[in-house]
Amino acid sequence: MSFTLAIVGRPNVGKSTLFNRLVGKRLALVDDQPGVTRDLREGAARLGDLKFTVIDTAGLEEATDESLQGRMRKLTERAVDMADICLFMIDARMGVTAQDKVFAEILRRRSAHVILAANKSEGAAADAGVYESYGLGLGDPIRLSAEHGEGLNELYAMLQPLADEFETRDDSAPETDIELPEELSEDEAEEGFVMPTPGKPLQIAVVGRPNAGKSTLINAILGEDRLLTGPEAGITRDAISLSMDWDGLPVRLFDTAGMRKKAKVQEKLEKLSVSDGLRALKFAEVVVVLLDAAIPFEQQDLRIADLAEREGRAVVVAVNKWDLEPEKQQKLRDLKEGFARLLPQLRGTPLITVSAKTGRGLDRLREAIFTSYQVWNRRVPTAALNRWLADMIESHPPPAPQGRRIKLRYMTQAKTRPPQFVVMCSQPDKMPASYSRYLVNGLREAFDMPGTPIRLIMRGQG
Ligand code: GDP
Ligand code: GDP
Repeated sequence: MSFTLAIVGRPNVGKSTLFNRLVGKRLALVDDQPGVTRDLREGAARLGDLKFTVIDTAGLEEATDESLQGRMRKLTERAVDMADICLFMIDARMGVTAQDKVFAEILRRRSAHVILAANKSEGAAADAGVYESYGLGLGDPIRLSAEHGEGLNELYAMLQPLADEFETRDDSAPETDIELPEELSEDEAEEGFVMPTPGKPLQIAVVGRPNAGKSTLINAILGEDRLLTGPEAGITRDAISLSMDWDGLPVRLFDTAGMRKKAKVQEKLEKLSVSDGLRALKFAEVVVVLLDAAIPFEQQDLRIADLAEREGRAVVVAVNKWDLEPEKQQKLRDLKEGFARLLPQLRGTPLITVSAKTGRGLDRLREAIFTSYQVWNRRVPTAALNRWLADMIESHPPPAPQGRRIKLRYMTQAKTRPPQFVVMCSQPDKMPASYSRYLVNGLREAFDMPGTPIRLIMRGQG
């Protein structure tokens, strides 16, 4: 008993392209079979170790008049009714159209299992459309490029647990823990590591306790370049943003307390600085947590750093007033020790010593900010991830609660900004935090990802 997947969506979103990819050479047109009209194409599909039937509402023209729209609707409904699972496809480059919403409504009413796919997702031009598709109320979209074969791993990760529900495991498939739907070539794998340069100013928030030196730091950065194009009206009255070119890197700095200070309400400042910092965090891509070397890791510093991590921002820690430090070597050791102990959740975060007053260390700070931004945006190719996972399992197998070993089957990166990984496994709820930490720390080292939170999700089989 195999399951049936219907690919539905308005014309031109790329349904046939995906159909052809799933069916490959096994294409079997079955339009002479009873119950299947010429308008519905059916084929035997294979994805990794999954075998299933795929239906495509092929050959539809863009519906311009009412009768066509009605026909399209009927056809889609028929496909939905024939299928166990529906893959609803939109064109991420076009965004969500009125017609998409009509389809979404049909699916919400008629289909038990809907997978939302934002197709044509290769490249940044699709980002807006992908985000828009969250609003369809059909769950998180998978980013697909049917044409380039991207996102099939994610599709596999979505189908596999449902497939189990329909008892479709292909027993003839090779017995491995990790089955890749598609191997990436080495070239493609390398390509995955190409890191983005911001096309717009990189948004940076400098946060920290009052008197840590935030204003001085921002002025130092501005002073070095004198390419200030602001100050501009900020997004709120409290946050002021400054756009500038920092040695060739376009940035927008969110200054918070600096402006407040002019109000001369010193006690109030103490209270406000955390919520100010919080607001700045929302706008920022990279958060610079500025510490005063003389009094690092105060409660407020720890809270701000923790918030930055929980908000999923790229984080750089800068230790300011380094010019005043007499014992720099010893101090640095102490700082690193304190950091590891007090902020374990920020492991791997670069710690940069600076002097906002003299300008020392600003180059290194700039580099660390840019690197963290890139890492935050990084996508690790699935093939490389799974090779790594196999090694990690071999050198340290997952535990076996109540005698049943947890099996890690397959892993993929679901999101960036910050990187989020999904591990398909058995007994996900029994996975101890220590093993997740082992994987996260390993990921950080193997793929060189300092300065970003890493999210790891264990997912079971439906
Ligand atoms: P259908 O009418 O929904 O079946 O759409 P098709 O599969 O015929 O695709 C419509 C057009 O979109 C064709 O020109 C495809 O080459 C193109 N297309 C399909 N998938 C992708 C994709 O992932 N990226 C891009 N850029 N184009 C795609
Ligand atoms: P903010 O409240 O975080 O904006 O802090 P400010 O930028 O106003 O700095 C607070 C005080 O620390 C001021 O007196 C600055 O001159 C001083 N300060 C800031 N950075 C440094 C530094 O790198 N070295 C030294 N020695 N003093 C600094």
